[in-house]
Amino acid sequence: MECGREPGGENAETLGICPAAKDERFDTVHGGKNAGRACWVIAGTFCENTVQGTFALKYRDCSSCRFFRQVKSEEGSEYQTSLVLLKQLKALKR
Ligand code: SF4
Repeated sequence: MECGREPGGENAETLGICPAAKDERFDTVHGGKNAGRACWVIAGTFCENTVQGTFALKYRDCSSCRFFRQVKSEEGSEYQTSLVLLKQLKALKR
């Protein structure tokens, strides 16, 4: 979303690094760095300058987000559904 909250980004020092930009569990998913292209399943992202909650709380907003729609469109048949990604998260916690 060009928020500058990635490590080394122009707003990282003042506003903090977004959890999606740091989360290595989804590195390379949808061709992104860390969870940069799977941010909708990461809790506590900083969208619209507001800390977002869990997947359940934020998914409605994410599903209408232009970035989410862009990734989904670009990935086409390679798009990994949120259900698949959440199952991966759950498996990693075991
Ligand atoms: S609103 Fe959701 S999909 Fe959009 S940038 Fe934030 S976490 Fe990602």
